[in-house]
Amino acid sequence: MLSYSTQFIDDNDIQEVVKVLRGDLLAQGPKVAKFERDLCDYTGAKYAIAFNSATSALNGAYDASGITKGDEIITTPISFVATSNMFVQLGTKPVWCDIKLDGNIDENKIEELITDKTKAIVPVDFAGKPVEIKKILKIAKKYNLLVIQDSSHALGSSIKDKKIGSFSDMTIFSFHAIKPITTSEGGAVLTNNKKYAESLRLYRSHGIIKKELWHSDMISMGYNLRMTEVAAALGSSQLKKLDNFIKVRNKISNYYDKQFKDKNLFSTQKLEVNTTSSRHLYPIFLTQKLHHMKENIFKELQKKGMGIQVHYRPIYKNSFYVKQFGKTSLKESENFYSSEISIPCHQKMNMNDAKYVAKTVLEVIDRYK
Ligand SMILES: *Cc1c(COP(=O)(O)O)cnc(C)c1O
Repeated sequence: MLSYSTQFIDDNDIQEVVKVLRGDLLAQGPKVAKFERDLCDYTGAKYAIAFNSATSALNGAYDASGITKGDEIITTPISFVATSNMFVQLGTKPVWCDIKLDGNIDENKIEELITDKTKAIVPVDFAGKPVEIKKILKIAKKYNLLVIQDSSHALGSSIKDKKIGSFSDMTIFSFHAIKPITTSEGGAVLTNNKKYAESLRLYRSHGIIKKELWHSDMISMGYNLRMTEVAAALGSSQLKKLDNFIKVRNKISNYYDKQFKDKNLFSTQKLEVNTTSSRHLYPIFLTQKLHHMKENIFKELQKKGMGIQVHYRPIYKNSFYVKQFGKTSLKESENFYSSEISIPCHQKMNMNDAKYVAKTVLEVIDRYK
């Protein structure tokens, strides 16, 4: 089965992990600090704070932002639920902004959703394609809002040679098993803001500050959301290979782009000039006429050995959200959900795999003409 995405672990990764296991420190220590420095070096951000997942990192970022009950956040429904779950649990209301054909938030629809309760904009770089961050930042500045960017798909993506990671007030990455790199489970917040960095460090570890000898003080509410040394060692080792992973995923994506060019039964995600994508996912979008056949197409592709997936069901459709906030329906988001299928694209595939995938996708979908 060719999965839509998977991890790539080599002997070096294993050696680095085993070294930690043979050592004295397993919980957060120097390997975590090293991984954080590596993330800063790679992205150009000033501070990186590692967490045990991106969900925890989002939790920390929303806490650091000071967002609270009664506030509103403008965000995209096309994401994993954690993007909004982590501020909804603070009592903050999601205000759903519709998306564009590529799956990213429609920056031209943000401004009309701003009220005096709006505190932040939370965009997601869908599949690794950078959102229109310059325009989003401009809106945020005009209305004095924060931008918290969920870049769980986009480690390694860039705009004009500048890596995603320091455009927004805070940027979140995921190192879940099948994200652009992995620490098995893990996440991080990147920021240039020292106050946020300090607040995030406290929140991740009980709100405790250490003083001399045994003296310590808990100065704010916190949890244990720390990354382990084992995970961080894997992270630093993986990060060295990220550019190669992305090279492979781009080679496959470029091949797909060529094979799927000008097809009228489905389209693909186009990148903007001067940007690169981590290509965490390769989404295809079925034409409206095929929406009602999506289940059949999905089943047939599965039967042919493809571990495909749909990203994402609009968050507002989940029963928790319907119960909490009532029914919502956004035209492009609904359309996107009816059309999207993520096909296999990852660093463990070779060009023969890619050829098989492209050929199979074309054959299966063509039969629905
Ligand atoms: C994977 C993902 C998350 C959650 O990441 P975890 O590390 O699994 O907690 C959040 N947002 C998006 C967009 C994701 O893809």
